[in-house]
Formats: sequence, structure tokens, C-alpha cells
Amino acid sequence: MNDPDGASGTLLGMRCLKCGVCVFGDAIFCQACSSDELEAVDLSSSGVLFSYTIVRVPPDGWPGPVPYVLGEVELPEGPHVLAEVIGMEHADLQIGKEVRLALEPVQSGETGPTLMVYKWAPSAIPTASRQEG
Ligand SMILES: [Zn+2]
Repeated sequence: MNDPDGASGTLLGMRCLKCGVCVFGDAIFCQACSSDELEAVDLSSSGVLFSYTIVRVPPDGWPGPVPYVLGEVELPEGPHVLAEVIGMEHADLQIGKEVRLALEPVQSGETGPTLMVYKWAPSAIPTASRQEG
């Protein structure tokens, strides 16, 4: 792992050495076979939209616009990763659509520190962005 600050937006996961199941984030043991022989792996920074929901009532302290889209994205390695979907009209949302990881600075609270938050963005950026009233 040569990306300590995550600036390039690599998702980290754990892969089971026994059964090969891969999970997003940290894990102490394999959820599939309970083995504790896990290795850290870099996950892909793109995947396909598996499911999504439009959130109209955000959690407390939600810093972004409302409503927003919460997308569940399936990575090639298998894990599903939940994050906000940005840069897409609601009408353009489509299951199976390819998305890529995007890091956005988000301020936590009025005076809190700025955190880098991962989100999903369309993998192909349209050349001309439409502005609609
Ligand atoms: Zn396992």
C-alpha cells in the first residue's frame, strides 16, 4: 500500500486466503468461512450500479444537497460499496451503469475539518454538461 493518504482514491478491502471471498473495508475474520487468514487488497476504483435509492430524508448532519442518490455499487472483486452517486440526473440512473470512484472534500459541521469522502460518479463524463433550471 503506497497510498497512505488515499489521495488517488483506492478502496481497501480484505481477501480471504482460504475461500477467496473479498470484503470492502477492514475485517478480522472472513464472513463466509470464519477464517482469520486475510490479506489486504486494493479494490477497483470502478464498478457497476447494482441498486440505488433516492434519499429525501438525510441522516443528521448530512452536508450535501437533498434529495440525493445513494448507490450500491458492485466491484469486480465482489464487494458492494454504498456511497452517494453524483453527476447523474435521476433520469439517467440505470442499474448496470458503470461508475467510478470520485473523492470529494466535505466539511463536517460548520467548523469541522474537511474530510475526503468517496462517492460514485459516471465513468464517462459527458463532454457538455447540461444545466437545467
Ligand atoms: Zn473465507
